Amino acid sequence: MGLVDSRYHRPMKLGTVKSIGWQLGLGFTLLAGICAMAVALYNFHARQYMGSDYTSLVAVVVRSQSHAVMFRNALEDLRKRPGDPDVFSRLENFLWRIPQHIDGISFSLQANQLSKSDYHASLARLQDVKERMSEMRQQLDGIILGASPEKFLHQGQVIENDLALTYSMLEELVHSEAAKQRIVMERLGRTISVLIFMILLLIVGLLISLFKLKRKHHKVMQLSQFDELTKLGNRRYLLSFAESFCKQSQRSGCSLGLILMDIDHFKYVNDTFGHPAGDQILRVFAGALKDEVREIDVLARIGGEEFCVLMPDTDVDGAVKLAERLRQKVSDLTQQQLGVATSVTMSLGVATGHEAIFKHLYARADKALYQAKTNGRNRVEIG
Ligand code: GH3
Ligand code: MG
Ligand code: MG
Repeated sequence: MGLVDSRYHRPMKLGTVKSIGWQLGLGFTLLAGICAMAVALYNFHARQYMGSDYTSLVAVVVRSQSHAVMFRNALEDLRKRPGDPDVFSRLENFLWRIPQHIDGISFSLQANQLSKSDYHASLARLQDVKERMSEMRQQLDGIILGASPEKFLHQGQVIENDLALTYSMLEELVHSEAAKQRIVMERLGRTISVLIFMILLLIVGLLISLFKLKRKHHKVMQLSQFDELTKLGNRRYLLSFAESFCKQSQRSGCSLGLILMDIDHFKYVNDTFGHPAGDQILRVFAGALKDEVREIDVLARIGGEEFCVLMPDTDVDGAVKLAERLRQKVSDLTQQQLGVATSVTMSLGVATGHEAIFKHLYARADKALYQAKTNGRNRVEIG
């Protein structure tokens, strides 16, 4: 019998398992990509509101408004007390400060990324006020030297009106932008919550799939390495140990033993008692072998009614002793134990040594098994 039996080397379903893994990974990456794109798209549209600090802009406008009111009061005081040096110094102060506020507001408006068309007209009016105020500074110098304040007062009144109107328009604009920003932020918060929820769902789904995949993989491995009928390892199971046992035997110098077993005239048992009876015998037979071998020995069903034991650290005497014990145990199985009105014997081939390649050890044991068959069966031969 050859070492590699095509019946036991059908391609495993591992390929399918791997491809499911790939699909899951790809699906997860795609979804993560879509989520990232959604957030980026949202950021792009909402960026005008993201980086804007409308609170400080409102504060600047409100402060400027209060200075405009104070400027109006100073103009009133000039009307009442035209020569008062204190009024002159207050007016000088406002004529210097208000243009500075105008510069501050224009900077804040641009920094907040408001739409230029929304504040362009207000800004132009403020720039105009700024220019008129520099003229008023010169007029104030004249008034201090004794000139009439009438023209100055009139121009101041116009400027104050312009300022009040422009500041209230700006205040309204900033308030409405701040309201929009609040809505955008609320939406962003909701979107992020949904995204986090989706990602959590995805992770849970992924973990469940991975868990199922692992179980499936384990089952596939079980099916591919174990025999359903006897619950013993199969040929693939044996081969998964064989080469490493050979290497270990070469390294340690300890002999590796192999026993091949084949039930005698099993066809006859099947033909006489039926296939289910044959199966029953195979189960009992496997159980009997299991009881005799050591923990470290590898017992496997490598064919229909062919079994083997691979024994690390076992010389020829040890191997033959175990083979004899197994042969005896099987031939001693009673009809009651077997559950079939017959008895069973088997032939065994033994090989031991320090083979580097398992195939060579196997070939010797196989040859010995053949010898046992030709020498009359129910016996052990050494190869
Ligand atoms: P020999 O002493 O020369 O080994 O004779 P044999 O009749 O045992 O011949 P061989 O080993 O070639 O035949 C094996 C038989 O084992 C053939 C097949 O019907 C039977 N067999 C193989 N697998 C199973 C199985 O899973 N269940 C049953 N009931 N029979 C099986
Ligand atoms: Mg056979
Ligand atoms: Mg046989």
